[in-house]
Amino acid sequence: MIRLYPEALPMVSIDLHCHSTASDGVLSPTDLVLRAASRGVQVLALTDHDDTAGLEEARAACADRGIRLVNGVEISVSWRQQTVHVVGLGIDPRVPALAQGLASVRAGREARARRIADALAKCGIRGGLEGAYAFAANPRLIGRTHFARFLVAQGHVKEMKDVFRKYLARGKPGYVSHQWASLAEAAGWIAAAGGVAVIAHPGRYPLSGAEFAELFSEFRDLGGGGIEVVTSSHNREQSLKFAREAQRFGLLASRGSDFHGPGESHCDLGALPELPPACLPLWQHRALH
Ligand code: AMP
Ligand code: MN
Ligand code: MN
Ligand code: MN
Repeated sequence: MIRLYPEALPMVSIDLHCHSTASDGVLSPTDLVLRAASRGVQVLALTDHDDTAGLEEARAACADRGIRLVNGVEISVSWRQQTVHVVGLGIDPRVPALAQGLASVRAGREARARRIADALAKCGIRGGLEGAYAFAANPRLIGRTHFARFLVAQGHVKEMKDVFRKYLARGKPGYVSHQWASLAEAAGWIAAAGGVAVIAHPGRYPLSGAEFAELFSEFRDLGGGGIEVVTSSHNREQSLKFAREAQRFGLLASRGSDFHGPGESHCDLGALPELPPACLPLWQHRALH
């Protein structure tokens, strides 16, 4: 992963992207909030993959500590053969359209997990399915990170950063293709739940300039509201590039660490540079107020 560029932290510490044990994070929602508080985070969005199960506990933990919790989720989407993550912020997790949509994505994850385990078995690694579930604190939400922790624990690879490169990334023996939600579905579920949709870490998608333009205009036409401009996945150049893209497509600029856990993430909660100048910050969106 790319290292963050050193810059001053903003006056108000806002982190709109992180994970708990409700998906593939290491910390429980409570421990995540305690860590955020100790690091001076004032506005925090919990954005677990395809599940909102951690929000209630996170809200209770935030209440006493003067942190404002933004209800979030990170939805897995397939757009033209490419996996794209769409963060929903300021959502009401009880809205049936969203809850049912996320349940359908999770069902797809279960089926994919069986196929990943079969693929790993073909290269001699047995017990992958049970092994991955043993690392999933939320049995409704299984993902590649849980397989990665299993493979590290079994000694197949030394470190988390090697396991995707060797086994789980596209083209590797444990990778299987998968059809996630459509961009229109994800945007629709988030809108129905009263939230604002944000394209997560665009710098991670291997798209051409023309394809990015198509993604962002299609997303905006579907009611999408923002782009993650500052994220641990971006270097400074990428943040500047996507700040320009946000302006060009009339989208707001978001900022989130994508923290998964101490030891697994090089960017800690709230440890992010400010948005580049001239960005319209996503936290001004009405869904967050
Ligand atoms: P999934 O949604 O189950 O396909 O898993 C995607 C998750 O795997 C991401 O949210 C990250 O937490 C993790 N991940 C993906 N690629 C890498 C990588 N190269 N190194 C470490 N973690 C990764
Ligand atoms: Mn993840
Ligand atoms: Mn993501
Ligand atoms: Mn994430």
